[in-house]
Amino acid sequence: MNVRPLEFRTARSTAEATALWAEVPDAYYLAGGTDLLIQMRLGRRSPARLIDLKRIPGLSAIEVRGDGALSIGACVPLGVIAAHPEVRARYPLLAECCLAVGSYPVRNRATMAGNVCNASPAADTAAALLALEAAVEASGPNGDVVLPLAGFFQGPGKTVLPAGALVTALVLPAKAAGCRGSFHRLSRRRGVDLATLGVLVGRHAAGGAGAHRVVLTAVAPTPLRVPAAEALLDRQGAAAAAQAAEAARAACKPIDDVRGTAQYRREMVGVLVARAAAALG
Ligand SMILES: Cc1cc2nc3c(=O)[nH]c(=O)nc-3n(C[C@H](O)[C@H](O)[C@H](O)COP(=O)(O)OP(=O)(O)OC[C@H]3O[C@@H](n4cnc5c(N)ncnc54)[C@H](O)[C@@H]3O)c2cc1C
Repeated sequence: MNVRPLEFRTARSTAEATALWAEVPDAYYLAGGTDLLIQMRLGRRSPARLIDLKRIPGLSAIEVRGDGALSIGACVPLGVIAAHPEVRARYPLLAECCLAVGSYPVRNRATMAGNVCNASPAADTAAALLALEAAVEASGPNGDVVLPLAGFFQGPGKTVLPAGALVTALVLPAKAAGCRGSFHRLSRRRGVDLATLGVLVGRHAAGGAGAHRVVLTAVAPTPLRVPAAEALLDRQGAAAAAQAAEAARAACKPIDDVRGTAQYRREMVGVLVARAAAALG
C-alpha cells in the first residue's frame, strides 16, 4: 500500500500558521478535525501537512468589542459558543443553530470557523450567521481580510477565502443583537445526521423594513437567504406566512440525494417557512 507521509505541525501564532501553510503544497489547517479527518479517511483529502490551530492564543476567545460587536475566535468549540451568556442573550438564533450540529461530543470539538470553511450547503451555523449578517475575519499570506458571510459561499466546499488564508474570528454586528425566531431542521433520523433541509425565520426587535430574515440550508449549492420572502414578511407580518413560504419554495434549488428528493425538500421548505413565520406572531 502506498501511504503518503503526513506531517503534523502545531502553530503558536497566526503568522507561523500561514508561513507553515506556504512552505509545502497540500497543507491544511486543522481545527476540530470533525470534517477534515473524516474526509482524509474517505480519501477525499490527502494533506502533506496538517497545521493545528488550537494552540494559537486569541483564537479561543469570545469578546465584546468596543462597538458592541461580538467576536468569536476561530477555535472556540460549538458547545462553548452555544452556552456563552452573550450568545444566549443577544444572538439566541446562533445558539440554536450551534446546538443543531451533531452530538455533544462533536460540539465539544467542532468549531464554527471549520463549519463555514468546509462550506457544506447543510452547514447549520451558516443559517444563523447569514441571518445575523456576520463577517469572516481572516489573516493570509497577502494580509488581513474581512469578508461578509453574504457572498462567502460559492458552492459545495467552495468559498471566497483567499488561498492560505486563516480564519481568525467570526464577528456578529451589534445591530443584529436581539434577532429572534426559530431554526427548523429535518433529518433522516433523530440524533446525529446532517440536515436534509433547514429553515431559519427570524425578526429583528426594531421591526419595520428589513426586520425579517429567511435562510434555507441544504436546498441549494450554498446556504441561501431569501430576500423576497423577507420583504413579504416585512410588509405584512405573519399574515404573509403563506406567500413567504411560496417565495422560499421558488428560491430553492434542491437536489435528489441519499437524504431526500428535491421534491420533498421543496415541499418541506414551504411547510417549515410557513410554520416558522406564523410562530413569529
Ligand atoms: C458525527 C458528525 C456529525 C456531524 N453533524 C453535523 C451537523 O449536524 N451539522 C453540521 O453543520 N455539521 C455536522 N458535522 C460536520 C462538522 O462537525 C462541522 O462542519 C464542524 O463545525 C467542522 O469544524 P471543525 O473545527 O471540526 O473543522 P475541521 O474538520 O478542523 O476543518 C474543516 C475545514 O475547514 C478548514 N479550516 C478549519 N478551521 C479553519 C480556519 N480557522 N481557517 C481556515 N480554514 C479552516 C480545514 O482546513 C478543513 O478544510 C458533523 C460531523 C461529524 C463527524
